[in-house]
Amino acid sequence: MASLVQEKCFNHRTREAVARCPRCGRFFCRECVTEHDGQVVCAVCLRLMVPGGERRRARRRAGRLAAAGALGVVVAWLSFHAVGRLLMLLPESFHEGTLWHSASEVNSEQ
Ligand SMILES: [Zn+2]
Ligand SMILES: [Zn+2]
Repeated sequence: MASLVQEKCFNHRTREAVARCPRCGRFFCRECVTEHDGQVVCAVCLRLMVPGGERRRARRRAGRLAAAGALGVVVAWLSFHAVGRLLMLLPESFHEGTLWHSASEVNSEQ
């Protein structure tokens, strides 16, 4: 363990290594290692252990975002549609006496 103290991080030459990657045997600082399946491995080995894992996760996240966006559009459309239907169902008398109506009447009288 004495050698570990003298070792520097493979990525950060100025930092002291706290762990040794069991896969590549290089020394890394705390920031450069991740725990995966009970093993402390470096970022490079983690990427090799999970091929395309990050990319797949990103794509899944993007898909979820797109789905949420589409759902939002559908919900917005449905609510606008419902409001439109509601306005159509309202009796004619409701629209009488509105500013728009009286304004057009004034114009036609002139
Ligand atoms: Zn490694
Ligand atoms: Zn480091």
